[in-house]
Amino acid sequence: MDFELTEEHKALRQTIREFGAAEIMPGAKERDEAARFPHELIPKMAELGLFGLMIPETCEGAGLDGVGAVIVIEELARAEAAVALIVASHNSLCAGHIFKFGNEAQRKKYLAPLARGEKLGAWALTEPTSGSDAGSLKTRARLVKDSWVIRGEKLFTTQGSTAGIYIIMASTEPSSGNRGISAFIVERDTPGLVVGRVENKLGVRASDTAQLHLEDARVPKENLLGELNRGFRDALTISIWQGGRIGIGASAVGIARAALEDSIKYARERRQFGKAIAEFEAIQWMLADMATGIDAARLLVYRAARLRDQGRPFTKAASEAKLFASEVAVKATNSAVQIHGGYGYMKDFAVERYFRDAKVCEIGEGTSEVQRLVIARELLA
Ligand SMILES: Cc1cc2nc3c(=O)[nH]c(=O)nc-3n(C[C@H](O)[C@H](O)[C@H](O)COP(=O)(O)OP(=O)(O)OC[C@H]3O[C@@H](n4cnc5c(N)ncnc54)[C@H](O)[C@@H]3O)c2cc1C
Repeated sequence: MDFELTEEHKALRQTIREFGAAEIMPGAKERDEAARFPHELIPKMAELGLFGLMIPETCEGAGLDGVGAVIVIEELARAEAAVALIVASHNSLCAGHIFKFGNEAQRKKYLAPLARGEKLGAWALTEPTSGSDAGSLKTRARLVKDSWVIRGEKLFTTQGSTAGIYIIMASTEPSSGNRGISAFIVERDTPGLVVGRVENKLGVRASDTAQLHLEDARVPKENLLGELNRGFRDALTISIWQGGRIGIGASAVGIARAALEDSIKYARERRQFGKAIAEFEAIQWMLADMATGIDAARLLVYRAARLRDQGRPFTKAASEAKLFASEVAVKATNSAVQIHGGYGYMKDFAVERYFRDAKVCEIGEGTSEVQRLVIARELLA
């Protein structure tokens, strides 16, 4: 396996790193405290092609490979995890689902505005009574004449109140369980699609997480995405979720790296007992463990992305990357707060935000427990 990034990948990393430092980092604290969506960043990120990362240029995307996409997500997360979540979910879940399973007309109508960043994408599977057991969802879609009529509740939808295009997963054949679930493209102004409560969260507070009420939302028959009754399997088994998991892994690496970089700086500056705390072995060991975890996590993320690029199976690799990187991020951000001492507990330093932001990586797109189930299932298959 080649561990060296191409010159294009390195240039991409530099561009996004500079963009993150200049455009994202300065407003991150304010957005976190106010739980304010970064509307001002959307056109700038659109200009960089960040809303069509892996969408081919023929469909107005940036045409990156999977490794390029995880480089982007890591750099965004290093700047602000909430921004990385917006870009990752838009790309891997919503745009990715339409690109992979949409027909020509759907790609033309919906993919181009998503890739250009004119419309944000959301992807709604989770419901009040179905999270990890997502296949037990209760939202129903019935075909009435030429329309699908969708009724149900969706919970914790990223971009729930800001998206222009939603993928809604609904049961079309309840007696078949998760083999009777289909995906639908639903436009924001569809009558019956009602945005509910916007959640007040522990971390990634600038991202938009909302409830959706589908009150007999009527979508045209042709907005069925992919084959009837295959929506859940398409999402789960082909690549939507697995691609999403690699993205969360990349995001976790970015958050952990932010924690490490801030900690190195602080440890050099902060003096106790007449010397910089960086001179204490206890601090050095924490830094060394953080760096080692980050490097290992990044390699797992790159490996999963590369397998995906090569068209090889990557279910286990994606879950391993997501699981490991999330746990590294939670541990590294905890160490970062520790290294900052009491100051790390205060809002003046960004490490407390990293600490809160990291936690979502262990929950979204399948909890750590679910990732372990997936890995074990692959091992025992
Ligand atoms: C910020 C944020 C953004 C999100 N964005 C989206 C989105 O855009 N679209 C979307 O559809 N969803 C989204 N989600 C939902 C997310 O995918 C779910 O929260 C997650 O899958 C877990 O489901 P749950 O919250 O219902 O927890 P539960 O499934 O109720 O889990 C509770 C606990 O039980 C454990 N558990 C459950 N089943 C098992 C098992 N079989 N074995 C062992 N342990 C188990 C879990 O690991 C967890 O510890 C988002 C969530 C968050 C927090």
